[in-house]
Amino acid sequence: MDLGIRGKRALVCGASKGLGRGCAEALAEAGVDLVLNARGAEALEQTAEAIRKAHGVKVLTAAGDITASEARAGVIAAAGRIDILVTNAGGPPPGLWSDWSRDDFIRALDANTLTPIALMQTFLPGMIERGWGRVINITSQSVKAPLAALGLSNTARTGLTGFVAGTSRQVAKHGVTINNLLPGSHATDRSIALAEAAARAQGITVAEVERRGAASIPVGRYGTPQEFGAMCAFLCSAHAGFIVGQNILLDGGAVNATI
Ligand code: NAP
Repeated sequence: MDLGIRGKRALVCGASKGLGRGCAEALAEAGVDLVLNARGAEALEQTAEAIRKAHGVKVLTAAGDITASEARAGVIAAAGRIDILVTNAGGPPPGLWSDWSRDDFIRALDANTLTPIALMQTFLPGMIERGWGRVINITSQSVKAPLAALGLSNTARTGLTGFVAGTSRQVAKHGVTINNLLPGSHATDRSIALAEAAARAQGITVAEVERRGAASIPVGRYGTPQEFGAMCAFLCSAHAGFIVGQNILLDGGAVNATI
């Protein structure tokens, strides 16, 4: 299927690895030129070069911590005109509800609520003016079904979800859609780090944590960044203009809910 977005320009944050990279690859395959962000410049440039070679699109890099206001300003300046925005950054660390301080919550809210909101506030006006735009926020399955050890994530991502629910309905008449993608367990560096933490906490091996994790998912495995990216590219496509303010769960059926 031709996604109808060849020649559009996308900023993909957290794009050197994992789910962000999956989104960048799928958008590039659809002919979208990219501005890629991550903190580590070396891995970011390697990803950019791999995408240029594979898909022949223009790929700029803008290294920096997207959750830090000064670095974010640099990324925004480098990005210029953007038709498609994919917000993403690392998730908050796991822990216990009683251990988190006010500062821990502020950090989580800054990274996973206020950063995507700031990016939307920056790029939505241009999209509205041009009459077309797509925003995808990578959030988490924890928005629909809380993960007890990820209380900081549960809190911060639910706040973003509320912002998107209202804002998406305000901008839709301008041809601009905002939707959230909710990953369940995917095979990325992040899921390995979480498995390592769980292995330490439970006194079992990382392989055993992963085996139990996969067994708890109806499809019997973790998702891939490619599957995730394909959904992102479709939501950014010309065909997805009627999909507004949705929270799309990609979890292999792990959340046991009728709706
Ligand atoms: P990942 O494999 O660790 O990749 C994260 C990417 O984001 C890397 O490119 C990383 O590069 C970049 N990044 C991290 N912090 C950043 C920051 N502050 N500024 C700019 N770039 C940053 O993680 P992932 O699995 O793709 O996860 C992506 C998001 O989905 C996270 O928020 C995670 O919590 C959420 N999620 C993932 C899963 C899963 O199973 N994988 C499940 C639920 C939710 P640098 O480190 O070089 O910056």
